[in-house]
Amino acid sequence: AARNWVPTRRVDSLCPYCGVGCQVSYHVAGEGAAQKIVFAEGRDGPANAGRLCVKGRYGFTYSRNRQRLTVPLIRKPGIPKGVNLDPADPLAAFREASWEEALDFAAAGLRRIKDAHGPHALAGFGSAKGSNEEAYLFQKLVRTGFGTHNVDHCTRLCHASSVAALLEGIGSGAVSNPVRDVEFADLAIVIGANPAANHPVAASFMKNAAERGVKLVMMDPRETPLARHAWRFLQFHPDADVALLLSMACTIIEEGLTDPDFIAARTEGFEAFRDAALKYTPERMEAVTGIPAATVREVARAYARGPNSIIFWGMGVSQHTHGTDNSRCLIALALMTGQIGRPGTGLHPLRGQNNVQGASDAGLIPMMLPDYQRVSEPGVRARFEALWQAPLSDTPGLTVVEIMDAACEGRIRAMYIEGENPAMSDPDLDHARAGLAKLEHLVVQDIFLTETAMLADVVLPASSLYEKTGSFTNTDRLVQLAQPVLPLPGDARQDWWIIQEMARRLGLDWHYAGPHEVFAELAQAMPSYAGLSWDMLEREGAVVAPKFSAAEPSQPVLFQQTFPTASGRGRFVPVSPLPAAELPDDDYPMVLITGRVLEHWHTGSMTRRADVLDALDPVPWCGMHPDDLASIGVSSGGRVRLQTRRGQLELEARADEGVRQGSVFMAFCYHEAAANLLTQPALDPFGKIPEFKYCALRVSPAATV
Ligand code: SF4
Repeated sequence: AARNWVPTRRVDSLCPYCGVGCQVSYHVAGEGAAQKIVFAEGRDGPANAGRLCVKGRYGFTYSRNRQRLTVPLIRKPGIPKGVNLDPADPLAAFREASWEEALDFAAAGLRRIKDAHGPHALAGFGSAKGSNEEAYLFQKLVRTGFGTHNVDHCTRLCHASSVAALLEGIGSGAVSNPVRDVEFADLAIVIGANPAANHPVAASFMKNAAERGVKLVMMDPRETPLARHAWRFLQFHPDADVALLLSMACTIIEEGLTDPDFIAARTEGFEAFRDAALKYTPERMEAVTGIPAATVREVARAYARGPNSIIFWGMGVSQHTHGTDNSRCLIALALMTGQIGRPGTGLHPLRGQNNVQGASDAGLIPMMLPDYQRVSEPGVRARFEALWQAPLSDTPGLTVVEIMDAACEGRIRAMYIEGENPAMSDPDLDHARAGLAKLEHLVVQDIFLTETAMLADVVLPASSLYEKTGSFTNTDRLVQLAQPVLPLPGDARQDWWIIQEMARRLGLDWHYAGPHEVFAELAQAMPSYAGLSWDMLEREGAVVAPKFSAAEPSQPVLFQQTFPTASGRGRFVPVSPLPAAELPDDDYPMVLITGRVLEHWHTGSMTRRADVLDALDPVPWCGMHPDDLASIGVSSGGRVRLQTRRGQLELEARADEGVRQGSVFMAFCYHEAAANLLTQPALDPFGKIPEFKYCALRVSPAATV
């Protein structure tokens, strides 16, 4: 028990979970391999000011969970591939191997497929839980070792549509202002996000601001805890977000609340957007959105008048087939009112995993080389070919869901997956798992035998954040250093070391001595990190990117004078509301909305193995309006069956008046009842993000009680 352990040392590092990027002190007891973290406390970091949420404070025990992988594994011959959820013998399909044998086997399989079918028969998923250095090395390996740009990561499933719209509209996929700028705002919109569960420390700053009088506007189909602190809560119909945002824009234009000087001096394309938006008056959209026109007008006026207004958004905005259009509307609101470029204003897509910003910056994107430099531009490719001394394909790669489709069709035949769990996180899981199982060769590098690793041919035991040195970039663009707190368990290895060993076996002459050398090359490759150095990170602990030269001061607030677009102006893009890809009908009359819960993180691979967190939320559940539950004769706590055209599952249903009638909310972290068995894979055409936030659903009492 922890009380028998007296901490003898403290290590300052980071939280492994969300994009807020809290700095943490870990207090460690024990010696050698028996060391363990006894408790964690928040440090006075720029993003957390000493605060931590339940995940940061109690979620560290997964690092020493008995299920940690400590030795390489190779699949036994003749064992069919499947997701084996039998906890009695999860490793039954594998035998232990030495590192030499496992790495040789892993690389030989990748080489065999490349030689027989060409480089584009290979693909790789890197990880937003790894460091910037690991992400950089992984994408470099796929691009120069495999010879393809088929490399992606979980940003495709969270903010790819936001990034597509931001790059198009204002030339940068990152946030304009940090979370804590809410302190300088007069009004803050939080739309399609549940910060109290997914960015809890950020939510605490939003609550503080609301208590001091900042007008907090929550906009979401589901009422989440932060709504209690809101000045106005707009519970719009699921899928009506574009209509709602256009009706806000319409109000601002109709009522003369735009900022004409800002529009004239800093933007382009306003007229076309104006003409499109003026059709969607709040009165005309009232039946579509479910929000009284007077409320929309009141909120739109307050946003435009500010004086300082900021917008935060999450995956309720991005995970739609019209996710890019949603973000285009948010960008248009900021541009037409001049609510950007000052403290307390701007656009902040709340980034999910602790390094999803950095992993995207470092190039884990199939159409972009590091720093969002397009694969399709010959000059960009030439620069990277010179730096990496290797030829590059001129064909942009496939995205996450496209890779799964290609695997099912036999076009992708081998994959290397580092720290991602698509067998839980992808939409239409039966399809995704079939694609993974069909691969002729699957290499998985992870810390647990995840559902994805269960389908692997070879499994390489890797490092958790508590065991590594590396830089991580949070949602505020803060680049911060993690330090090793614990030794690696058993024969697990550092991720950067494993990637380098794989690269050498694929013919690349890599000799990085450690993450610091990788960072030096990364800073050469990425203009926006060129002013950063490892020494600077060690000295200062946290430095804001972009930083184009060491002499240049950091810019927590971007776009004060200009936008990094070709013209230097922000760009309006006209949009109109489009329906979701799969609408309710007589057979499937309700709507499924997936998301996350406070205690668990994404696919649950870490938090379901963190004993305190799993004890707080141990069983799968869904939330339903009490009237919907009553209509099928089920009490709160009873079991229901959820069915979509892709699959079905049974789980506990809890009455929740915050869930709109006609919809069901469910988290995707429970392997026993995987929500993504139900979701559908239709993609936003620009961001290629699946529509996790809307599909048609049938609910009935469960067959088993
Ligand atoms: Fe960790 Fe995010 Fe919680 Fe901070 S808010 S402790 S980074 S999970």
